[in-house]
Order: sequence, then C-alpha cells, then structure tokens
Amino acid sequence: MEQYILTELAEIVGAGQLATADEELVSYSYDGSGQEFLPEAIVFPGSTQEISRIMALAYREKFPVVVRGAGSGMTGGSLPLKGGLVMAMSRLNRILEIDQDNQVAVVEPGVINGDFQKKLNSLGLFYPPDPASLAFCTLGGNVAECAGGPSAVKYGVTRDYVLGLEVVLADGRIIETGVRTAKGVVGYDLTRLFVGSEGTLAIITRIILKLLPLPVASATFMVCCRSILQATRLVRDLLALQRPRTVEFMDNTAVSLIRERLPFSLPDNTAAILLIEVDGSKISVKNQSALLTEFLDSYDMLLVKRAEKQADAKILWQARRALSPAAFALRPDKISEDVVVPRSKIPELVTFTEKLAKKHNLPVFTFGHAGDGNIHVNIMLDKKNKDELDQAKAVRIALFSKVILLSGTLSGEHGVGNTKAEFLSRELSPDTLKLMRQVKGLFDPLNILNPGKIFRDDK
Ligand SMILES: Cc1cc2nc3c(=O)[nH]c(=O)nc-3n(C[C@H](O)[C@H](O)[C@H](O)COP(=O)(O)OP(=O)(O)OC[C@H]3O[C@@H](n4cnc5c(N)ncnc54)[C@H](O)[C@@H]3O)c2cc1C
Repeated sequence: MEQYILTELAEIVGAGQLATADEELVSYSYDGSGQEFLPEAIVFPGSTQEISRIMALAYREKFPVVVRGAGSGMTGGSLPLKGGLVMAMSRLNRILEIDQDNQVAVVEPGVINGDFQKKLNSLGLFYPPDPASLAFCTLGGNVAECAGGPSAVKYGVTRDYVLGLEVVLADGRIIETGVRTAKGVVGYDLTRLFVGSEGTLAIITRIILKLLPLPVASATFMVCCRSILQATRLVRDLLALQRPRTVEFMDNTAVSLIRERLPFSLPDNTAAILLIEVDGSKISVKNQSALLTEFLDSYDMLLVKRAEKQADAKILWQARRALSPAAFALRPDKISEDVVVPRSKIPELVTFTEKLAKKHNLPVFTFGHAGDGNIHVNIMLDKKNKDELDQAKAVRIALFSKVILLSGTLSGEHGVGNTKAEFLSRELSPDTLKLMRQVKGLFDPLNILNPGKIFRDDK
C-alpha cells in the first residue's frame, strides 16, 4: 500500500489506530478456516464517520477493504485474499441502547455476543442466537454470516432478530435500513440482504436487534443412543411431538473427544449422544420435561440422564462447545463443513459420511444442530500430507454432491467465504448466480469490499 494512502488513513483514524508492522499483519492474517493471507495494513476505526471516510479513500484509490470482527469465521471471510486493508471492528464495541419497554437493542458491530447476552440476562431479557463461539465472536460478524447456534431449532437464527442496520457503502455513503418497530414493509428488505452478505456488500456499523423475555427455567437431558440411526430417528419423532430449545447431536468419535469433560459416565457401547434442552416458564419446563421423559421412555435408549443441577447442565454445554477445538487431538488440521439437509434425511447423510471416512481412510466425524438438520461434518487431516489432502478434497466433493441430492444446502451458518466459492454453482442456477453477481456489482462496482468471497472468479 502506497505511503500516501497510509498517511491519509492515519489522518482519518489517528496514527495509533493504524498498524503496518509485520507482527501485527501476521496477527490479522488468519481466521477459523486455518488459512493465512497477509493484509497490507490494519485500521481500527472508532466511528461510522471514520469508516465512511476510509471507504471514500478506498473507492478513490481502488484498494480492497476486508472487515474483521473476531476472526472466528470458518470460511475465510475476514481474510484479505487480495491484500489491501483489514478493518478491525474492535473499537466499535458499545451497547448503545437497551429499550426494555419495546424489547429492542441498538449495538455497535464489535460487541461480543456473550457479553451482550450477559448484559441482557441481567435485565431479564434474551437474545437467542448462540453460536458455540459466543465467548469471542462479534455481533457484526454474526450478522454478516447470519450465525446460528443450538437454540435455532426453537428460536431461529440471527436474521430473525435483526430489525435494522446502519451501513457504510463501498463509496463511503452511510445509509440506514429497516425499522425499530415490530413490523415494517416499506420498500425492499435491504436489511435481510445485508444479513449474511459476508462483508461483500457494505460495512455494518450499527445493528438494531429484537429481544425476547428471558426464559426463567430450563432442563437439559443427555441421551445415549445405541446407533446413529436410533439417534436421528429419535430427533425426527421428537420434533413431531414438541419443540425443545436445542437438539444437539454428536457421533461416537465426537463423544470420545469430550468424554472426559462430561459430568456423567457413558455406557461403553454409546454410538451417539443427543443433548436436549427445554426452556420457558417453570410450569412450562415441568410439562415439557414430563412429555420428553415419557417420549424417551418409549424408546429403547442406552441411557437418559437429566442434568439435575444447573452446574451439570453448564458442564454439558461447555463440553459441547469444546468439541470443535478438541478435534485437533485427531489430526493437526480440520476441514469443517456445516451442511444442512431436511431432518428426515439426517440418517442417510450421517451413514454416508461414515462410508466416506472408511473409503478415504480419514477420521471424519459429525456433530451439530440435529434439530435443524444442520450437521457439522469434520474431516480431520494433516495438510502437509499430500495424500490426506487429496482424500479430504474427494470427501468434500462427494459430501456436497450428496447434500444437493438430498435437497440440502452447502452451508447453514458458516457462509461461503472463499472456501466454498467454487461449489456455489452446484446449488445455485446460472441465472440465480448471475443475478447475485449483479447485486454485488450494484453495491460494489469496483469490487473493493471483500473481493474473492462468495463468488469465485471476481476480477
Ligand atoms: C469454535 C468455533 C465455534 C463456532 N460455532 C459456530 C456456531 O455454532 N454457529 C455459527 O453460526 N458459527 C459458528 N462459528 C463460526 C463463527 O464464529 C461465526 O461465523 C461468527 O459469526 C463470526 O464472527 P466474527 O466476529 O468472528 O467474524 P469474522 O470471522 O471476523 O468475520 C466473518 C465475516 O463477517 C464479515 N464481517 C465482520 N464484521 C462485519 C461488519 N461489521 N460489517 C460487514 N461485514 C463484517 C467479515 O468480513 C467476514 O466475511 C464458530 C467458530 C468457531 C471458531
């Protein structure tokens, strides 16, 4: 990046808020996808106005700008594939307003999801989207990826809670979209367009979120299943009966990774476990738990354990959240796909991945949000081993083909980024893809906002 551009950037944000030293560039060169791309500079803006001025400069000088929340994305979204500027949102981390009467909050994009949850809970309020990364991921990143989490089965995903946005466009203009009311249908729904747009259409600088009253009670059950088929059939039958807050699934390999962390010992022949949680008022949780217990009794499960103590439930969920990082005990590298299939097709998908693992001689394990059909397929490998890398690529291709055959989708929450861009045409028709590219061109005619993401061959 030319010195005069760096000088102008420093003038906008202040010299201390621009980083160009090698060690700083390296710190912002990777994310949860395991890839690395070095930025040319990192900027830490402190206001929407500064972001607007930075974008006007980027537009004039035609350099790429890649927004970064916490860098926990799994598909390379925050990585500067083509160099340029990384814009870190860490200073825009204020909860601007919590309107208790109307159950609405206004936040800056750098607020950490878990911090937001805690603040709301202390006020008797609730923001349901709960990605497993909530302790460190940002609300801006959640909106840009349309993050989901275990509670999506009952409460939906990020897009269901975003009422409105303030964004900075590629040329520096600032616009507001949406409403802060419960309803609103004036004009096209640009808010929804920006949700899940992965930093390719605009920079989100303010978010208006819908809140709910905090459920006061919950009950967590751990269910040990004899087979994957039993687990997945149980999920199908359970959801026909009631709608728990979460229905999480882990196959045998996944269970073995966190077995030590669980508060209960498991039968040796456990093939899969389900974590089921119900929530609501005390009376509602009592009724839901009774219904669930009756339902589980009618199945021939290996073990059903209710976490009687809040502490045990907490340990169960901590163990579930530790699963993704714990996988590195198997191999140094992981390719994690978050495919979704219609719930009735989960048994077929999981059985298929087991066959793939055997065929390609790689550890492949599955876990995820079974209640939504959103199964995380984790391919473990050593990327330095060429044969394992080739086998892993073959597993991915076979997996994606199968998912499309099962009427599924390639990503439920991690987005496309650059890691799935080449597979987009498997799911979207040429006309749909063309229209999406035209939308991108309309918002970002110079292709400076996160180039190389979502669409493969951006110029
Ligand atoms: C251990 C682990 C568990 C995870 N579990 C889940 C899960 O359960 N559910 C789930 O959905 N995801 C999960 N993820 C993925 C990841 O945490 C989410 O995608 C999260 O939303 C990313 O937030 P972030 O702040 O890290 O964003 P980043 O990774 O920094 O960025 C993600 C994308 O958003 C864009 N972006 C960020 N901020 C803005 C902004 N203000 N304006 C415009 N674009 C922006 C970036 O350019 C990039 O394209 C997990 C990741 C890890 C490492």
